[in-house]
Order: sequence, then C-alpha cells, then structure tokens
Amino acid sequence: MQVKDLKRTYKISKTDELNALKGLTFDLPESGMVFILGKSGSGKSTLLNILGGLDKATSGEIIYKGKDINCYTQSQLNKYRNVECGFIFQEYNVIPELNVFENVAIAAQLQGEKEVTARVEDVLKKVDLDGYGNRKISQLSGGQKQRVAIARALIKQSGIILADEPTGALDSVTGESIFGLLKEISKEKLVIVVSHDRDFAERFADRIIELADGKIVSDSDGGYKNIEKDDNADSRTTKSIPLKTAYNIGIKNFKYHPLRMFFCIFFSSICFTLLGVAISASFINVEKTYYNSLIDNNIRQVNVTKHRYKGIGESTLMGIFGAEYRSSTPVLIDGDDYGLLCEKLGAEEFVALSNNGKVNRFQEQLLLLKDREKFLEIWDAHPDLIKSINLNGYVHLPENGLNKLGFELTGKLPANKLEVAVPESVYNAFALLGYSCEGREYEINSPDDLIGKKIQVDERGVEYYTVTGVVYSDCTVKDCQSEKHNYHEKFYVHEDFGNFKYVEYELPQDKNKLKEIVNFEFNYEDEESGFFRLESELAFNDYDGVDVYLKQKAGFYLSAVFGVLSVLLLANFLTASINSQRKQMGVLKSMGAGKTSLIKIYAANMGITVGIIFACSYILTLIGNWLFNLYMSNPAAGIVMNFMPFNGWLPLILFVIIGAVTAASCFVPLIKAVNKYPAEHLR
Ligand code: ADP
Ligand code: MG
Repeated sequence: MQVKDLKRTYKISKTDELNALKGLTFDLPESGMVFILGKSGSGKSTLLNILGGLDKATSGEIIYKGKDINCYTQSQLNKYRNVECGFIFQEYNVIPELNVFENVAIAAQLQGEKEVTARVEDVLKKVDLDGYGNRKISQLSGGQKQRVAIARALIKQSGIILADEPTGALDSVTGESIFGLLKEISKEKLVIVVSHDRDFAERFADRIIELADGKIVSDSDGGYKNIEKDDNADSRTTKSIPLKTAYNIGIKNFKYHPLRMFFCIFFSSICFTLLGVAISASFINVEKTYYNSLIDNNIRQVNVTKHRYKGIGESTLMGIFGAEYRSSTPVLIDGDDYGLLCEKLGAEEFVALSNNGKVNRFQEQLLLLKDREKFLEIWDAHPDLIKSINLNGYVHLPENGLNKLGFELTGKLPANKLEVAVPESVYNAFALLGYSCEGREYEINSPDDLIGKKIQVDERGVEYYTVTGVVYSDCTVKDCQSEKHNYHEKFYVHEDFGNFKYVEYELPQDKNKLKEIVNFEFNYEDEESGFFRLESELAFNDYDGVDVYLKQKAGFYLSAVFGVLSVLLLANFLTASINSQRKQMGVLKSMGAGKTSLIKIYAANMGITVGIIFACSYILTLIGNWLFNLYMSNPAAGIVMNFMPFNGWLPLILFVIIGAVTAASCFVPLIKAVNKYPAEHLR
C-alpha cells in the first residue's frame, strides 16, 4: 500500500478549516506490525480511518492493489472495508445486542457466507475465547471485548488489520496481551496500530511512523519506497448479508430494548386502535344497521305511519296532565296511500289502529339513563309515575282482543270518539298524584273515582276525553317484542278516534326484501303528501342522535385526530429508535455492510414492529367495536344492535397507514445513514 501526499481538512465552521493531515507520503509492507505514534490530536485516528476506508481524504492517493482507494465508488468502498480491512476500535464497538459468537459471525456473514460456525469457533480459539460463544457482551471484561473485536477482524481473512488505540481503555497487563496477540497476527498480515504509548511501540513494532500536527516527523523505515504496482486485484466478491441473519439481528435489536419496544408498541397500538374504532364509526350505515337489527332481533311486526312533516322534535312528553305531545303530526292513510302501501308491503289489508310508533319507554329509559342502578332506584320509588310517562300511544282494542291478550278491564271500553279507557299506570299515577280540574282537587282511591272524569289525551291537548275504564295489562319487558306489547300502556280509544291510521304488517325475513321496504320508507317522501315512516319496536329514531353523530362528526374528526396522533407517535418512536442504532450502523458499515445489508437488517426490525402493532391494534379495534355494540345494544330488553359493522377494508387501511408511517420514518434516516462514511457514525 502506498500513500502519497495525503491531506485531510475538516470544516469547523463556514470560514474555518482545520488541516488534520498535511500531506503524508509513505508506503506500507504486506505484513508486519506498524505503529503510528503521536500525541493526542496529531491526526492518527484521521489517518487510520482513511486507510481503512471509514473516512475520505480531502486529497492525495492511497494506492492499494493498483487502485486509488480515494477514487472508489460506494460499493467498491464497501467491498474494501468488507474484504480487505479489519478494523479494531479503542472502545471495542462490539454490538451489545448480539452475543460473542454472533458478533464474530456477522463479519463473515456480511461477506455473504451462510455457514460460519466452524470458522467462528476457530477464530475464537485464536483469541483465547474458546467456549465464550454464548456469552452476552455485557458479561465480558474490557480485554475480552477487545478480543471479540480482534476475532471479528480476523475472521474476515483480510490482508490488513487496523487498530486505533486498541489498548487505550485497558490496563497495562491486559494491553500487553492484546499487543502480543496482534504481534502474532502480524506475521501473516499487515497490522497498523495507532498508539500514543512509546513503550509499547518500541517493544512490539516492526516499524514506527511518528506524527505530529498532521505531519510525519519520523519513520523508522525511511519513508516512501516506490514498489512495483501489483495488479492482482482481489477477485473475492461480496454479497449482502443472508436474509435469515438479517432477520435474526432484527429480532435481537428488538429484544435488546424491551422497554422501549414495549412503549412503542403499546402506545402506538392504543392510538391505532382508537383510529381503527373511529374509522369503523365512519363506516356506520344507518339503514343497514336498522334492517339487520330487525332480522337479528327477530322482529316480525312493524308499524307504518304517515306523517305530514318531517323533522319536528320526536320527544314525546305526552301525558295525562295536558303535557305537550310534540311530534310530526300523523295524517290519515286512505285511498291511494292505502293501495300503495298494500302493494309495497305485499299485504292484503291492514287491520290494527295504533300509534305505537315509539320504543317501549322502559327500554328508552334504560338506554338514556345508562346508569341502570339509578334508573331502578327511581323505578322502585315511583313505578306508576314512570309508567305513565312511558305511555306511548293510542290503540283501538276490541272486546275480543282484550280477552285474547289476557288483559283485564274495570269499567267499559270507549263507545265513541270522545271516550277513552286508560291503562293501569295512568290510573295509578292519578291515585298517586290526585286528579285536578278547574281548580278542584280530587282524590282517586279506586278506578270508579276516575271513571267519568275528563282528561286530555290527544296530541294537541284541545279536547277532553271521558274515562270509561281501566285496563290492566300484564306485560313485562320480555314481552316487548310480542303483539301484546302493541296494546299495552296505551290509551284505549274508539275506532273513530283520531285522524291517522296505523298499519302493521309482517316483516319479510329476507334481508334484501327488507332493505327494499326500509328504503321505500326513505324514498317515498314529498313535501305535499307527506311521507311514510316504518317503525319497529326498536324505535330507531332514538338512536338517530348517536349514530348520526358518530357517522358524520365523531367518526370523521376522531379519525383525523387519532390518525395524526398515532402517526406522529409512531414516527417519533421509530425515528428515535433508528437514530439510537446509529452506532450499530456505523459498526456494521465499518465492516463493509452495504446498502442492501443494512436495509435488510433494519427492514426486518421494522417489519416486526409493523406486524406486532398492526396485529395488536386490529384485534383491539375488533374488541372495541364489539364493546361499543354491546353498549349500544340492550341485552336486558333482548335488543341486539350492531352499529359498528365489520368491514374488510379496515385491516387494509390500518395496515397501509402503519406500514407507510413506518417506511417513511425509518427509510429516510436509514438511506441518509447508508450514504455516510462510518467515521461520521462512530464519532
Ligand atoms: P488523534 O487520533 O491523533 O488524537 P485525530 O485524528 O482524532 O487525532 O484528530 C486530528 C485533528 O483533527 C484534531 O485536531 C481534531 O480536533 C481534528 N478533528 C478530528 N475529527 C474532526 C472532525 N470530525 N471535525 C473537525 N475536526 C476534527
Ligand atoms: Mg485518536
């Protein structure tokens, strides 16, 4: 190897430069132990780094096997580091994530070799570390670490070993044995040792080159000799590291920082789960949920009402004390409408007259109060009051129907359109609170006290209706989907009552047909003639607020917020973790790891991260959706409501986002790092 007029200037600031090497010229033999001696700051490390291809000279030539190293391309340089040189550092720079065996093996594996066990064992024997293969690096002494580094340099079977103050961090006895080892090696190879210890140099060196202030001040061998150019350029080729090895290192890196990885995975998974749930929420399809729910809940009967207006508040505070009954006003279904409905619903005729358009109030209370305990408390204290508020409509109940349903009657059923029979709960409410009329208070102690009194029952509270009887219906929550329920807790009115008609029909159990009908409800709408509303016992209206909010607002905004949050979090974690591998990257590069090898190693690392985060967050998302559905459903009333649909796109979307973030946040710093000189990493 010949060095001619080698210079290296460092840029310290925009204007200042530092000449670390000021034109060195010398040659080096093919074997022997050459010491480069000099005070700290004299340029020894700079020189050694350049000789080993870890750094680039500013000018000058380094002719090796007929070629100037300084003119090498990146891949030629990688090959040079990989095949021609073995580098030994003062701080060992062994890879703590790997054990002794793997630290040595990787140097050979970076040359593309797959089967290295025998060679590693052989080299470990040479450096006196026989049997230490499985040791962790943290379990070694300084001297042992340096031996690992030497073994790593030796296994490459390169012609040159470069050692930068190899004993600088060791005590003198250990240092001595390391120098002994290097001296042994120098019988076959060229060993260049940087040191500031003149004693050692004089005892071990075959030749001493002394530097001061970036210049050679003495050379025991007389300096530059123009040896014949020898053109037997090395025919050994290098391949990138085997995939399996890369993958193993990836895993090791992963395991070595368990806490960091745990937090990265934990927080990222939480964020991506929230994102997943939010995305799921944007997939909510109200109609689909409704008609699926009808089938899922085995609901066979629904009601159809025709309304004049849409969009008037649905809250029903209808009551016996003239309370407001706010609703879109139902209108008569007759003539053409009747025919149209028959046709659309495939029914021959409609029989029932009822206004049971609303959910059973009991369910509604459960859903609204959420706090079931609190609800039950109120329920226990004032059952009748609550039941009377729960009152939800009018029904025409003929005498024989009354018997069929097993309801009991005290008094009579109404005989004209201004009479009404009240349910037990209404009677009980009067019994509890009393009856007042035109300033006079009446106590109600028996049904007879109420019969004959006038109350307001219609939606406008204009007309007064005379109570004719009290109907006792024994109907529990469990009956809420039965026919019984359609007649329970209603005002029992005469056939001629009201100006609206209520229709019941058998639901088709075929989801497609059902969809058609549900759509019909939404489609058959115009300002002039009003619209039909299909209503089931589930009273979908009560969910409107929730689902519209989730779908249009929360779903979208939450997706955006959690999306940004999780992306930032993951990107930050990953960039930090790549940067923390800076040193490892430098070490790998100093051993000649090329672009492909590095990408393989860190891609394996990232692949595992992506895989785990994706799996965790997808599973958690499914659980989250399931919990949400559970929360929205009302198991007590036997209602199943699957708001969060299963969507095949969700895993794909999550995977693409996680993958893209990972790729972006890893490969940018990775590619940047790949193109740097190792000296910059190791500084
Ligand atoms: P030695 O190894 O002999 O102690 P170095 O080769 O490390 O010396 O450094 C030689 C000179 O170059 C010193 O003055 C040092 O401050 C300077 N130097 C080394 N590396 C850099 C760098 N990356 N940037 C700027 N100056 C540097
Ligand atoms: Mg140094």
